[in-house]
Amino acid sequence: MYILARALKNVGIENVYGLVGIPITEAAYLIQGQGIRFVGFRHEQQAGMAAATEGFLTKKPGVLMTVSSLGFMNGLTATANATVNCYPMIQISGASDPTMVDMNMGTYEQLDQFNTAKPVVKAAFRCSHAKDIPAAVSRAYRAAVSGRPGGVYIDMTTPALGEIMDRDEAEKLFYESVDMYSPVAPNAESVDRAVQVLTSAKRPAILLGKGAAYAQVDDKIKTLIEKYNIPYLPMSMAKGLMPDAGPLSALSCRSTVMEKADVVIVIGARLNWMLSFGRGKWNPDMKFIQLDVDPEEMDVNVPIAAPVVGDMGLALDAILAKMDGAKMSADPAWVSSLQAEAKEKNAKFAARLDATKGLMPMHHWTALGVIKPIIEANPDIILINEGANTLDDTRDAIDMTIPRHRVDCATWAIMGMGMGSAIGAAVATGKSVVAIEGDSAFGFSGMDFSTACRFGLPLTVVIFNNGGIYNGIGVPMDKTTDPAPTTLDIHARYDKLGEAFGAQTYYVQTPDELRAALTESIASKKPCLIDVQLAADSGKESGHIGYLNPAPLQDIT
Ligand code: ADP
Ligand code: MG
Repeated sequence: MYILARALKNVGIENVYGLVGIPITEAAYLIQGQGIRFVGFRHEQQAGMAAATEGFLTKKPGVLMTVSSLGFMNGLTATANATVNCYPMIQISGASDPTMVDMNMGTYEQLDQFNTAKPVVKAAFRCSHAKDIPAAVSRAYRAAVSGRPGGVYIDMTTPALGEIMDRDEAEKLFYESVDMYSPVAPNAESVDRAVQVLTSAKRPAILLGKGAAYAQVDDKIKTLIEKYNIPYLPMSMAKGLMPDAGPLSALSCRSTVMEKADVVIVIGARLNWMLSFGRGKWNPDMKFIQLDVDPEEMDVNVPIAAPVVGDMGLALDAILAKMDGAKMSADPAWVSSLQAEAKEKNAKFAARLDATKGLMPMHHWTALGVIKPIIEANPDIILINEGANTLDDTRDAIDMTIPRHRVDCATWAIMGMGMGSAIGAAVATGKSVVAIEGDSAFGFSGMDFSTACRFGLPLTVVIFNNGGIYNGIGVPMDKTTDPAPTTLDIHARYDKLGEAFGAQTYYVQTPDELRAALTESIASKKPCLIDVQLAADSGKESGHIGYLNPAPLQDIT
């Protein structure tokens, strides 16, 4: 166990998120003994979300520690989610003796965790001997951050954890791992092709994904955009990489970019369901230039005219060097027409917020009209956001200006990442965090608000309580006295839950109360929870993505 703690220290791990029990309790103490922070959670999935968020924000793998069987499985959901989202993290789980598992002897918490994890992680290692631990940790780190980042699993078996070694012998196992992330440059031909396509574009645009935010190459992206006057469209977690309200932001002209642009540079984004697979309403003659570290991402749903495979920083360096002030062929009316459209759309949006200003009880937009200026005046706050309507409306309402200050439920559009991600963001960065949560979304991770309280983190949780999943007006279909499947509790007092753990709490019913509570909470830099009472009919089925329901369900409103 000491070897594990020492191995984590050796590769520079600063925080471990987890939940102790047999067989990892002592390891957690020893990890603290190495000067590594051990953040103990109430549910492994949230500890995993914290580790994944640290990975996204820092480019270093976040570490999750779980007990065997159920704890392992709970944590694995977050590790799988991290892999899908390309966040580097390492899940280390206590595991039963594999020789007993393999013989199906019915040992304590018996589960073939190694093979259970394999299909949903980037790499997996099983340590059956203490001497293997340093190499496993080092290789897991490398696997998590190299190429396309992702979740890595280490099966830390009880025999390996309990093995006693001579201290001098053990010390010899450690080595300094060098060059843990080795950026790979794209080939020159691909760069030439990309520059040729870009400079001949009439209506170019840039699509920024969370891979672009993750890569921490903010200045290079800014140079490409500003020097060559290219409008940009950020995906939700790339918001702020360039200012959402900047003069070249095409945030409010998404459809126009999809339909009218002739060349789009996809930077660290995937043309998946969130981008209509690059088909449908996209201009059928579109030429895509795609920058991605993973060659297998090219041509996934649509042919890529100019794939540039390699590390984002090196790819942008090569493109900028090749461009070298080259003249663009862009139609000057392209940018000005997008700017005119943005102006019109933004005015419409402001009017929409304004129209809900006095609604009582408040609606999502009423509350967001209050929250928007407060968050925008504090751009260094990291915003965590999940829910259905709460996610969609908050994403649309709040402009971001700083990179990597927004973490949401990402590629799988899951619920249940809130408290873990908020805690991970606060621990990894030391910054203040505001989590804007739907009442349903909060339910998945609510107990881990207590973790933020125990660690005294500067986290404000804002719960939009409309009493249900989507909304609180569901009607049961058959003769039952049970609540409808979508109904939660419009009268629930989430603030009292916060009170139980010593947080500063508020129950707000009016815009003025919300304004005062949020301002005070942020200033306190302490754990705070605000229950925002919304109307039960605020919000619609599945938010903006109702079209993804099987057809018959869409008719039920
Ligand atoms: P979004 O959901 O914002 O569209 P995705 O998660 O779909 O973003 O896409 C992110 C992409 O970024 C992935 O295809 C991933 O391979 C790529 N990526 C991640 N890190 C890097 C990096 N350092 N260099 C280049 N590409 C990267
Ligand atoms: Mg709700």
